[in-house]
Amino acid sequence: MEQLLTRIFDQAVANGWLGIKDLTLRYDGVIFQGEKLVITASKLQQQTWSFASYTQAIFTEEFAKAYFGTKFHHWVSFVHCSQCGVNYDSTETKKCWQYHLKQLTMRSDPLSYLEVFLK
Ligand SMILES: [Zn+2]
Repeated sequence: MEQLLTRIFDQAVANGWLGIKDLTLRYDGVIFQGEKLVITASKLQQQTWSFASYTQAIFTEEFAKAYFGTKFHHWVSFVHCSQCGVNYDSTETKKCWQYHLKQLTMRSDPLSYLEVFLK
């Protein structure tokens, strides 16, 4: 699970999560301390972001925006978003992250949902 979480958080950081990229910090990775996890980055000094559990990190707007994107679903056919590469059961136009964050909160296994979107 730590390996999967690391890949998920790496991708989110690469997409701007926590502002690490915008601040031109060097991303140093994820440290797991039991349930707790710490995202680390550095420039002159080390900066850290702590979460009590991975769910505390992934069920946030900031994470979902970075992971799924802030654009509106781009329909190429009736129920398919070309940005997300996923078919939907709804034609309601939402931003990709809003749709996926809602989906995520309804899953008993949110990590396998996130894994689908790993690049
Ligand atoms: Zn989409």
